[in-house]
Amino acid sequence: MSQMGMVIDVERCQGCRACMVACKTENDTPRGAFWMNVFRYEEGEFPDVEQGFTPNPCHHCSEPSCADVCPTNARFKREEDGIVLTDYSTCIGCRYCEVGCPYGVNFFQWRDPEEGQYGFAADDELAREVRQNLEELDADLDGSGGAWENPRLQAAQEPRGTKMGGGNHKVGTMGKCTFCVHRQDSGDDELAGTTACEEVCPINVIHFGDMEDPQSKPRQYLEEKGAKQRWKMLENSGNEPNVVYLGDKPSNAARGMENEYKDTDEAIEAERERDAAYLVADGGEVQ
Ligand code: SF4
Ligand code: SF4
Repeated sequence: MSQMGMVIDVERCQGCRACMVACKTENDTPRGAFWMNVFRYEEGEFPDVEQGFTPNPCHHCSEPSCADVCPTNARFKREEDGIVLTDYSTCIGCRYCEVGCPYGVNFFQWRDPEEGQYGFAADDELAREVRQNLEELDADLDGSGGAWENPRLQAAQEPRGTKMGGGNHKVGTMGKCTFCVHRQDSGDDELAGTTACEEVCPINVIHFGDMEDPQSKPRQYLEEKGAKQRWKMLENSGNEPNVVYLGDKPSNAARGMENEYKDTDEAIEAERERDAAYLVADGGEVQ
């Protein structure tokens, strides 16, 4: 049996957060939801301060406590590849899984993805320019879809034949990283076995694949890196996570470099406070 997982080389990670952007674009996640999140932390005292970065997707645990507490069996572990999914058709939005998960990777879906949610409306001049550049790079892009509509995401997933991947969000249900299940089930050899975050990382920090297969990308990477320090997050949680980190583990003295917010309204409020220029309309009002 397969168990999909990731090896994440934190020693290489530069904290650029391209993986977070790729995940949002690929999965059309609503505002305030970060299915991939890169923790940024610092250690030491001035002037000897070091920064560290830890990407944190769902760990697709072998013993997922989120599924144990789900009263409707909407959250479950898929037998064929060990991916942990949410069946949006039976999720009642009780949020038990969010409480039951020790990794903070569940995001309640307060709203549907919407046009212009990241400041790019379809007729936005910058959006048009970006699309034009993309079309020049890739002739297959016809530019007809909005940046918030990923056409790969229309399919339902097995074994239930219901929608469980990104982009199928339903207000009032729980979302989280699916290891790009729509790619795994696409039947497309170039997409299966990849995730958006892995694909976009400019310095190959993320290695996705079957942790049970010695020939898989993550297992081969582990083999190649040999003695480098390897660890799992909250190893004693009992969840048996399937994300392995390589490189120094943050110490207990590590300090987060920004406030986290998970609630959509909080996230929007934070954006307002930053007075982000890309969200400010002509009249000076935040959109
Ligand atoms: S990381 Fe959390 S949400 Fe993901 S499988 Fe483990 S317990 Fe469930
Ligand atoms: S929010 Fe949905 S997936 Fe999570 S425990 Fe409740 S019913 Fe299950």
